[in-house]
Amino acid sequence: MKIAVFCGSSRGNDQRFAEAAEEFGNYMASQGMDLVFGGGKVGLMGVVADAVLAGGREVYGVIPESLRDRELAHQGLTRLDVVASMHERKALMADMADAFVALPGGPGTMDEIFEAWTWGQLGYHNKPCAFYNVDGYYDELLAFIRKMSGAGFLKPEYAAMVIVEQQPEALISALENYQPPARKWS
Ligand code: AMP
Repeated sequence: MKIAVFCGSSRGNDQRFAEAAEEFGNYMASQGMDLVFGGGKVGLMGVVADAVLAGGREVYGVIPESLRDRELAHQGLTRLDVVASMHERKALMADMADAFVALPGGPGTMDEIFEAWTWGQLGYHNKPCAFYNVDGYYDELLAFIRKMSGAGFLKPEYAAMVIVEQQPEALISALENYQPPARKWS
């Protein structure tokens, strides 16, 4: 399985985030999983890529030219695809991956996981989407997702399709056992 990991291009200000990203990458590699990610060497992105590489698995980066040119690309990957735009990057990552996981991150991470979830809801793909909720980092967002559902903007089955776990073992197992819901508007 190739897992697309979306995560901070910063490390956050608690060492625990980098530790958790490393644990996640180590566990992915131990389970024979490969990584698709944004291709950067910075922040948690670099941490998870290094962990999967150190575990002997393949790591595919997809980076827009402008970010590569600012020397933010990781140089030690199995393959680095350089694309023209963020839109192309997201499309290629979505095609390559079998599952999508958000580790802690900022607006870029939110953009990517919410797009993957939205596309899953519409039936453009049947791949699982997950939050690795390190130390409750996503608790307020998850509360807001419940609010969306309560307010009638998100059907309970599409709220439930998002996997939320605090441990890599439980998260990867949930990805492997995922059953997609019937698509919206069918
Ligand atoms: P953020 O969560 O706002 O730090 O954004 C992280 C996400 O946006 C990552 O999953 C990347 O796909 C993308 N991204 C943001 N900054 C960079 C960067 N410097 N190099 C590569 N990708 C980046």
